[in-house]
Parts: sequence; structure tokens; C-alpha cells
Amino acid sequence: MAEKRIAVLVVMDGVGDRPLRAIGGKTPLQAAKTPTFDSLAAEGQNALMDVIGPGITPGSDTAHLALFGYDPIAEYPGRGPLEAFGAGLETKPGDVAFRANFATVDSKMVVIDRRAGRDFAPEEQAELQAALDGIEIDDVKVRFKATVEHRGALVLEGEGLYADISDADPHETGKKILTVRALKPEAEKTARIVNKLMRVAHQRMKGLETNKNRAKKGIPVANALLLRGPGRHSDVPPLPARYGIKAAVIAGGALYIGTAKYVGMEHIPVEGQTGTIDTNFDNIAKKAIETIEAGYNYVFVHIKATDNASHDGNIAEKIVAIEKTDTLVGKIIDAVGDKIIIAVTGDHTSPISIKEHTCDPVPIVFWSDFIRPDSVKRFSELDAAFGSLNSIRGMDVMPLLLGYAGYFEKFGS
Ligand code: ZN
Ligand code: ZN
Repeated sequence: MAEKRIAVLVVMDGVGDRPLRAIGGKTPLQAAKTPTFDSLAAEGQNALMDVIGPGITPGSDTAHLALFGYDPIAEYPGRGPLEAFGAGLETKPGDVAFRANFATVDSKMVVIDRRAGRDFAPEEQAELQAALDGIEIDDVKVRFKATVEHRGALVLEGEGLYADISDADPHETGKKILTVRALKPEAEKTARIVNKLMRVAHQRMKGLETNKNRAKKGIPVANALLLRGPGRHSDVPPLPARYGIKAAVIAGGALYIGTAKYVGMEHIPVEGQTGTIDTNFDNIAKKAIETIEAGYNYVFVHIKATDNASHDGNIAEKIVAIEKTDTLVGKIIDAVGDKIIIAVTGDHTSPISIKEHTCDPVPIVFWSDFIRPDSVKRFSELDAAFGSLNSIRGMDVMPLLLGYAGYFEKFGS
């Protein structure tokens, strides 16, 4: 068998766009100077790809699951476990996880402030976390981690837990925390535990030193938890078990790190990687090259700045983010181009004109120094439509990368 290559996936979040009058009817990808992407497109195989399916607008989490080779519909655990992993709270199959908020309630559990004033000092977060982490209700253990401002992640560990429950969050102030109901018979235990947890958390939180001080200063106290986005860590085999590969993630945003860790990737931190336009593109390139040379079989690099610019409607910033990623990928090709098979793409389209995700397919290019090229010469939404791989969807990206990289045995004899 031929030598194996390292599979590299570079995702520019929300990079796909539509033609914009302000830049002469071009898309940001067309307007950006992208010598590396264009040479990859000219020497590689291209496609305009539906990441989840035709007409479906992907969320970033489901889109990434698909790009990692998982069925984004059948194998999506819900936001909770992905956020928990991103927060550094690892879940295991059977756990149910939530996104959590500190909130302010009155003595009747009526919500007064859904974010409890939003600002929390690290000591305050630590005291609240210590009060909540380790709570036990019946045979279920609660794990909690405070993250940014009033936010956190909460995990329930125990037997027979399911995420099919209604919301406790009334989503409005002036309304009482709702009694959670099971949406499926098997989730009755979980509903009962969450309802008890709402009361226990309130009891534990209300008397904390943090809240006495906040009350004195006239800042809303954090005396309740609001939970949302429940999800159950299901029995999906992680990448090392599914494909026998050692995989790494280089990303700044917690949701991307979390989704990658959920499928068994190892997070490689990069100094200065922020998940915004201020991220350190040079350091990301250096770390990606190091990681490719460090014995991993698969390296995923995520750039968030393209999607942030799209949500802000900022054309110039989206173009800069694309150009800086082009330079970053150029450095990877120069250093280790003969060791890799690389795919460059987006997880969805986020048109500047819409400032949200849309269902338009995204361009993808596969390049290696041995791949058979198609007739596409430039990397853009319009050029990619003439590529040779146009039947693929997001879920096909991982098998294509690993197949070209040489990790699959011959099928049959
Ligand atoms: Zn995204
Ligand atoms: Zn987005």
C-alpha cells in the first residue's frame, strides 16, 4: 500500500456568500485575493456541497458533525453535550447536559433577571460553581462549570437519563420557573430530577457570600439556574473507534472545540487563537504544521472570523478573514504539502446581505500532490459549481479525506 497521508480539514465558518452589489456583484470569496486557494482549486478536485442536505440551513454544530463524518440528524446529541465539552466538562454516553444561566428569582421563583446582571468576577463564578458542582439528587450526580459571564454548562450523570423534557426557562421575566415535563415516558426520571434540582440550586445559591455582596451593591443576585438545550450523549463511536485514527482540533470557539471533542478529537491549544478576527493566524499555521508532524492522522483547523463578519454584515472584515486564512493554508502547504491531503471549505453559507446562515451550498476543494485535477481554476461559490465532486454532501468529506489518505482497506478482494 502507498504511504499514508495526514488528512487536514480547514473550515472557514460561514464563508459561503451571495453576490454583493457593493463589491461589483462578486462574493467575498471572489473579491478576496486567494492565491493559495486558487492554486489548490486549479490542481485539485472541487464541489459545491450541501453540508447537511439540499435546502437545509445548517447550524454550526450539526454542520461540523456532518463534516466529521457523522449523520447530523441521527447522531446529533443536542447543544448541551457539545457546549459542555467546549466548557471543559466532558460527558460520557448516557449523560444529559444543558447550557445554563445564572438568574435572579423572587421568593416565589418568579424570574426577575434572566442573566442575574450578566457580569461576574472570577471569584463569584468560583463560589457559585462550588455550590452547584457535586449536588446529588437521588442517584443522579450534578456537575457544573461556570464559563463566561452568567453562563455555564451542567451535566447530569446517572442511570436512565434522557433529554426529551420540556423547558424550565420561561424565557421572559415576570414569569415563574416552569415545571419540567417528560416529552417521552422514558424521560420521566430526568424531568423529576431537574424539577428537584431547580429548588436545590435555589436553596444552595441564595445564601452565598457572592449574593450578599451583590445585594449590598444593588446588583441582581444569582439565586437560580435556568437550563436550556438539553442533550444526551448517545452511543456514537468516537473517531478513534470508528476509523482507527488519532485526530486533533485547532479552534478558538468553545462550540467547535466541544463538537470536535465530542467525536474524540484532542484539543491543541494555540496561543492567541480567539475565534475572532484578532486571532493569531501565524500561530495557528505554526501549530497546525507542528500537529501534522506530531503523529496525528487527522487535523481539523477552524476559523470563526468569517462567520462573525457575516453576522455583522462586514464585507471588508470577511474578505480580510478569507485572505488571512489563505496565507495560513499557504504556509501549511509550503511546509508539509507532500505529507497531507487537505480539504478547504465552509460549514454553511452566511450571506453578508442576510447576516444569518442560509441553505446555499458551500465550495469545497480537495487537494494533494497526487490528486487528479478537474477543470475548476479558482476557489469560489461560482467556480466550484463546475467541479468534479458535485454529488457529495458534508458527511462524505471525512471518508473522502481518509480514503485518499490511505486509511481504508480495500473493500472486497
Ligand atoms: Zn458555522
Ligand atoms: Zn453563525
